[in-house]
Amino acid sequence: EFQKSKGQHILKNPLVVQSIVQKAGIKSTDVVLEIGPGTGNLTVKLLEAAKKVIAVELDPRMVLELQRRMQGTSYADHLQIIQGDILKTQLPYFDVCVANIPYQISSPIVFKLLSHRPLFRCAVIMFQREFAMRLLAKPGESLYCRLSVNTQLLSRVDHLLKVGKNNFRPPPKVDSSVVRIEPRNPLPPVNLKEWDGLVRLCFSRKNKTLGAIFRQKNVLLLLENNYKTYQALQAVSEPSAGQTADVNMLADDAEEGDDAIDTGTAAMDTDVPEDDLVLKGKEGLAKVKELALQVLKANDFEDKRSSKLQQDDFLRLLAVFNEQGIHFA
Ligand code: SAM
Repeated sequence: EFQKSKGQHILKNPLVVQSIVQKAGIKSTDVVLEIGPGTGNLTVKLLEAAKKVIAVELDPRMVLELQRRMQGTSYADHLQIIQGDILKTQLPYFDVCVANIPYQISSPIVFKLLSHRPLFRCAVIMFQREFAMRLLAKPGESLYCRLSVNTQLLSRVDHLLKVGKNNFRPPPKVDSSVVRIEPRNPLPPVNLKEWDGLVRLCFSRKNKTLGAIFRQKNVLLLLENNYKTYQALQAVSEPSAGQTADVNMLADDAEEGDDAIDTGTAAMDTDVPEDDLVLKGKEGLAKVKELALQVLKANDFEDKRSSKLQQDDFLRLLAVFNEQGIHFA
């Protein structure tokens, strides 16, 4: 009856529902966005607290059930249901987002919300426990990854509530956690494409030193390519500065592995012997390598590992690379 692909696990414990709504700090003047209302257990409580709830639900059967449940009640006038895929829906204005979402689209939902303008006050969302822990992870913790760094660049993240699997019907395989996400306003002044390009590289081998990462042939090929593109672009026009990039691109790729750079094969993941470069006439590559390592050394990054770097370290690293003409987008 429930479709696995839609992640339909209905929250059955009223105490958890109540706690989520209370922690969302909804005001009577708020417009609330709910993603995946399902049968409406959360929706009813949201309607008691907010001026209006806009609920986006993919499954037409759920939409019908929700409509039936609200029919003839005083809530009906304050609820707008949009039938559709949240990832394909243009979001309306909202103050607060509250959602028990299908876990398989957690990352795109986070970055869709964070790219929405005007910025909302906060989002209180149920995630798979491990995903929640990755959002929250700090440098030095085992789950610290590109997702942690990108989310924390754009928002403040707090853990609100642990929710065991038995609070759902049918119970999912994993435990869950409710997390609050508050967008940073203003955002740190950084070009998001460059930022994500750098962070991706740094976490491609998160326990290697940056010195080792920036000696890898696939990394150098990428940087050399960017270098050329950048020079060419500069010759034509000023490159666009600031946060013009789409926040959505920060969403995780399907599997975030510790060895998932898409630019190279395992065979290419080797140091580039200096001779080799010269012999093959790849002066460009050798030059980029020298420049990159020089930047790392001069700024005391060569022996650092991304698993330990703070947001400010990444910002500084990006700035010193860019100053020397090394770009990641
Ligand atoms: N909010 C309800 C609750 O807490 O009991 C149901 C939560 S259930 C985990 C996820 C809900 O999201 C389901 O109703 C499912 O049909 C809906 N859903 C799945 N994929 C969706 C999508 N791409 N866009 C909008 N809703 C989706």
